[in-house]
Amino acid sequence: MSELTSDAPIGERPDRPLRVAVIGAGPSGFYAVAALLDADLHVSVDVFDRLPAPYGLVRYGVAPDHQKIKNVCRVFEKAARDPRVRFFGNVEMGRDLSRDDLLRLYDQVVYAVGAQTDRRLGIPGEDLPGSWSSTEFVAWYNGHPDFAGADFPLHHRQVAVVGIGNVAMDCARVLARPAEDLAATDVADEALEVLRASRVTDVHVLARRGPAQAKCTPPELKELGELDDVDVLVDPADLEDAAAEGELDRQAEKNMALFQALAERGERGSRRRIHFHFLVSPTEVIADDGAIGGLRVERNRLLADAAGRVRPRGTGDTFVLPVSAVIRAIGYRSVALPDVPFDDRQGVIPNRDGRVVEAAGSTAVRPREYVVGWAKRGPSGLIGSNKPDSQQTVDAMLEDRKSLPPAADEAARRPAAVTALLAERGVRWVTFADWQHLDALEVARGAEQGRPRVKLCLVDEMLAALDAAPAEV
Ligand code: NAP
Repeated sequence: MSELTSDAPIGERPDRPLRVAVIGAGPSGFYAVAALLDADLHVSVDVFDRLPAPYGLVRYGVAPDHQKIKNVCRVFEKAARDPRVRFFGNVEMGRDLSRDDLLRLYDQVVYAVGAQTDRRLGIPGEDLPGSWSSTEFVAWYNGHPDFAGADFPLHHRQVAVVGIGNVAMDCARVLARPAEDLAATDVADEALEVLRASRVTDVHVLARRGPAQAKCTPPELKELGELDDVDVLVDPADLEDAAAEGELDRQAEKNMALFQALAERGERGSRRRIHFHFLVSPTEVIADDGAIGGLRVERNRLLADAAGRVRPRGTGDTFVLPVSAVIRAIGYRSVALPDVPFDDRQGVIPNRDGRVVEAAGSTAVRPREYVVGWAKRGPSGLIGSNKPDSQQTVDAMLEDRKSLPPAADEAARRPAAVTALLAERGVRWVTFADWQHLDALEVARGAEQGRPRVKLCLVDEMLAALDAAPAEV
């Protein structure tokens, strides 16, 4: 660090730290915070989330029966407890703070907003009641406030899950596994009740390509085969065709071995079944008196495109799967932020190595604006993939920091300016200490039932719990 002279660049004097706003308190946001804290610099970071609870996808996306994955929150908690970091939960960009506010209050702004919505199939009937996106279903069973009270009546016997990525595996597993397996997790209470009463017996997983192109990872596929009282059904003929396709990568090889073992095991008379259907694409969700009367699917064959990528092509041969509910697990999309560029085709904030640019393919960088995570690269990768991704963006920020001019209004860069503005606007923000109180409350409620936590699922419920908290909180 250079000498502490009054004209030293921003971040090189303790009285003028680099002021950064991170919009979104999920994994990519917290990995960016951690990378900033590790830099040899004076930094002061404010993390905003529109929900009172931090941790984004870890709290609201990771399946309740994957509790171990949630241990990564310890890393994020360590960053959040650092005195250089403040958490502002229940503060929404666009509602409580504008882009202009952020650029006035901070030297640099990082968008870490993830991918909040789902991709669409674009077929008739997609919006019928009983046709759900995995975004909705996953958020609901994880107790996300936006989906509390959502209606997922699982009184159908046959359900289709479209897609064969890990989200599809999560959905199929949660639908098929005995609800009592989830009773000891942090699944939302309301979802647990519905899953306990579920009449689902058959879950149909639909892959538009073959088993060798399945996006799910081997541990998740293996887990399906290990569920109690669930048969996983794979047609051996589907594997023979795939075997003729030639060389496979490691994931495909492992998946194929698992599919092979499942095909050999066959049906064992379990209470529930997961059926894998390969080389099929939905073409219509069939309406039946306002409900779903089935899912029309078309058989595909595979063709390699010019780049050698194996693509599905419809054959015109269709049939109807007799399902009464459909979950589309075909990938997530980011949502545009007010006044921030958005690439509608890719569903991301256009950027170059994390620096926001004016439009997809543009080289015109928007100074002082950055992006990380799924909003940067699209919805792929495991939670840990966000670490190097966020580091790349932070490296760009640190590079740019060296030539940051002083702010037009230096007083606005003081931490107190943020709280003053939020207070003036009547925003009820949730601090990290507040969150720790809510966290302790959830864990205590869970302990009474032998569960890791019982989630507070409504924003009002969380705020009321804080209102009722002892004064020292
Ligand atoms: P994903 O891995 O990209 O899988 C999406 C699936 O949807 C693919 O099978 C894809 O088929 C299919 N699909 C896309 N468009 C389709 C269409 N129009 N019609 C039919 N099928 C279509 O996405 P994801 O499952 O949402 O997962 C997102 C990321 O989170 C992944 O990196 C995943 O590994 C990760 N994740 C990890 C875990 C875990 O570790 N347990 C859990 C959940 C999610 P094609 O392959 O043919 O495109």
